[in-house]
Amino acid sequence: MMARSHVVVGAAAWLAAAPLLHLPQLDAGALTLAVAGALLPDVDHPQSWVGRRTRPLSTLIAAVLGHRGVTHSALAVAGLVVLLAQAGARRLTADALAIGYLSHLAADLLTPRGLRLAWPLRRVWAVPLCRTGSPAEPLIVLALVGGIGWWLWHGSAPALARWLR
Ligand SMILES: [Zn+2]
Repeated sequence: MMARSHVVVGAAAWLAAAPLLHLPQLDAGALTLAVAGALLPDVDHPQSWVGRRTRPLSTLIAAVLGHRGVTHSALAVAGLVVLLAQAGARRLTADALAIGYLSHLAADLLTPRGLRLAWPLRRVWAVPLCRTGSPAEPLIVLALVGGIGWWLWHGSAPALARWLR
């Protein structure tokens, strides 16, 4: 998906997940970190929003590992969590970045190209609802955000949080 879609989905994912994790939903710093996490996986694409800002690193990652490789895998999520723990990141920081990162993977999963979630294995997972940059992409994002908004508006998040305890 496009960067703007990842920003919206990352923010929505944070707003949905924070109450479940008993974290401050409207914390501006956490929301910003979730959005940053939602953009981070595309560091493997030199033409992406984050890739253009991280050259030559993005060019190197693209050349060695390819786009939607390791940065779009469960291994990357685990690596991010371990790295943040080793760095002594606060729980709010780590959770916000991880939720944003996961939202990116979930959004890219909705494209025909899919993800190699078990990288380095070659199997690709996809729920192909829209092509990246197609007219359908904003409609899918709108449906996701609308669903999350409806869920939050009707108080399902607190009820689910109570059920998870
Ligand atoms: Zn991506």
